[in-house]
Amino acid sequence: LHQPNSLEARDVAYQLHPYTNARRHEEIGPIVIAKGDGVFVEDVDGKRYLEAMAGLWSVAVGFSEPRLVEAASRQMAKLPFYHTFTHKAHAPAIELAEKLIAMAPVSMSKVHFTSSGSEANDTIVKLLRYRANALGQPEKKGIISRIKGYHGVTLASASLTGLPNNHNAFDLPMPGVFHTMCPHHWREGREGESEDAFATRCAEELEALIEREGAETIAAFIGEPVMGAGGVIVPPATYWEKIQAVLKRHDILLIADEVICGFGRTGQMFGCETYGIEPDIMTLSKALSSSYLPISAVLINDRVYQPVADKSGEIGTFGHGFTASGHPVAAAVALENLAIIEERGLVANAAAMGERLQAGLAGLKDHPLVGEVRGVGLIAGIELVTDKGAKLAAQPPGSMAAKAFGLIQERGVILRAIGDTLAVCPPLIVEAGHIDRIVQTTREGLDALAASM
Ligand code: PMP
Repeated sequence: LHQPNSLEARDVAYQLHPYTNARRHEEIGPIVIAKGDGVFVEDVDGKRYLEAMAGLWSVAVGFSEPRLVEAASRQMAKLPFYHTFTHKAHAPAIELAEKLIAMAPVSMSKVHFTSSGSEANDTIVKLLRYRANALGQPEKKGIISRIKGYHGVTLASASLTGLPNNHNAFDLPMPGVFHTMCPHHWREGREGESEDAFATRCAEELEALIEREGAETIAAFIGEPVMGAGGVIVPPATYWEKIQAVLKRHDILLIADEVICGFGRTGQMFGCETYGIEPDIMTLSKALSSSYLPISAVLINDRVYQPVADKSGEIGTFGHGFTASGHPVAAAVALENLAIIEERGLVANAAAMGERLQAGLAGLKDHPLVGEVRGVGLIAGIELVTDKGAKLAAQPPGSMAAKAFGLIQERGVILRAIGDTLAVCPPLIVEAGHIDRIVQTTREGLDALAASM
């Protein structure tokens, strides 16, 4: 089980997914993580890392939280598994559904449980198709997503994802999925264009797409309040207000993919609250259970649910659901996790520590390799460049962030490289000292990168 734990900083090909460069992965292998506590993880050689990516945007309450271990074991002993098909249910799924409806920032009426973000978004695609048939509008099934949006990797959710690596060579996106522009002012804004004018242009481009395809063919628009896996892209302040106005005008539903933002990440319980988003459908996962066990949820309002309920059976049963939907142990862990988030005031902590993180990272703006620092609450992106004016990074694309990521990881802090952006997303329990270490180590890694170039 020996693994080379000091990543070669010069290893441009190193990426997070084994398949990105399968031969290279065979050669160097992964860092094997053996255990975790709080905001730290430790590898098999005993090297400790501050996990500043919350183990893939997920672990809100920290690693090895005893209350979650106990909640899982209690439920495991009582009822380790039961399904939620054919008029069956169990207390953890019912309680969790009630809790999510109560927590939702807008009025929601039903919850459909799944086990991953991808499954949840796939479920939404099918739900919308079924609903269109139920309403007698069989052509109203299209979905608009955004370039650089991330919504998963199954065939339907990968289609919604707006990243080339999730489409190319997979023959995706599938028909009926359209991508509109990414709300990244720093990259996409025109010379002298204000953030507000840019937001207006995003909304106009969305409207043009809807008119081109015909509003009667579009069921919904999906977006993350803040884009995560596409490179941490924070929308302009007025973006969501303008987008929602277009959707309302054309009677198009809004899906908020809160898989990363949900449960405190932005400094409020949901990203929807931070941006005044009023969704018809919400996707929840990751911090829902701090990813201790896989569980996700689709929340739908009455506008979505009632037509489906009216016709269910009549147009063909809504034949959809997974064996593990609402898994009792995962649901029990999620309930305890949400209780911890509330009891420990972790959303307020995310807001306070988020300010410290954003202020600290803003101090990197004058670094010669930093093009943009962006973020809100406890999610941030640092985009690297070699030419600040032209906003250009070194070749090949992604190589600067991959190197910086390695140099920072060698120094004991785990971030993530997405293209030429370093993503930061620590657990919600993070403390001031941890934030300062993330900022300081990032600076040291960038200095080392500059010295090597
Ligand atoms: N939506 C968003 C916003 C995500 O960030 C992710 C995962 N990073 C997904 C959906 C897909 O979730 P999963 O990996 O659990 O399928």
